[in-house]
Amino acid sequence: MSNIKENLEEIKKTIPENVTLVAVSKTKPNEDILEAYEAGQRVFGENKVQEMVEKHEALPKDISWHLIGHLQKNKVKYMASFVDLIHGVDSLKTLVEIDKQAKRYRRNISCLLQIKIAKEDTKFGFAFEDVKEILKSETFRNLENITIKGLMGMATFTENEETIREEFSTLKKNFDELKVSYPEMETISMGMSGDYQVAIEEGSSMVRVGSAIFGKRNYN
Ligand SMILES: *Cc1c(COP(=O)(O)O)cnc(C)c1O
Repeated sequence: MSNIKENLEEIKKTIPENVTLVAVSKTKPNEDILEAYEAGQRVFGENKVQEMVEKHEALPKDISWHLIGHLQKNKVKYMASFVDLIHGVDSLKTLVEIDKQAKRYRRNISCLLQIKIAKEDTKFGFAFEDVKEILKSETFRNLENITIKGLMGMATFTENEETIREEFSTLKKNFDELKVSYPEMETISMGMSGDYQVAIEEGSSMVRVGSAIFGKRNYN
């Protein structure tokens, strides 16, 4: 017996209405996704383009698919026809490619820029100063088929709640600063199974929760 429906209901009780829950279904089979779908969940996040494409083809078409992981430029074309939000954009070159592929499908693709808030070396992302430069650049301003909807960040993997809180709070400050000049920015994607409560307290508007809904992942 799986507890997906119960887990979802428990988590939803703890999330304010204005916070979007992205159910992170990476490595999980379609049956698990359908179970969450039948419980009313419509937004799902995957971190591998190929896996997301296969699930998109097999599953109900009113699912909103978010690509949450690190994105390689050469993979953009496979999902450009359907992806709803790309969370982890961390280079201008990738934005240029997303714009180009979106144009092929006469779409406008929503993106979040990933900011590196963690101290660890393994996390991808821009420095905030670079984001400001890019948004002002000629190259960026010529992109007509993408919309930067906000920022995304991942906190350090640690038990130390203060560290996590500080990192989320930094991201929120960056977001508030940008929003003054870019009012179309509405989304701040931060918080995972282990830290989404802290993220919401620090101003998150979108949490990406996987294992707390679907159980532990098996990578074999
Ligand atoms: C896997 C993943 C998540 C979800 O992680 P859980 O700890 O299982 O909730 C969230 N965000 C990103 C970018 C991920 O890769």
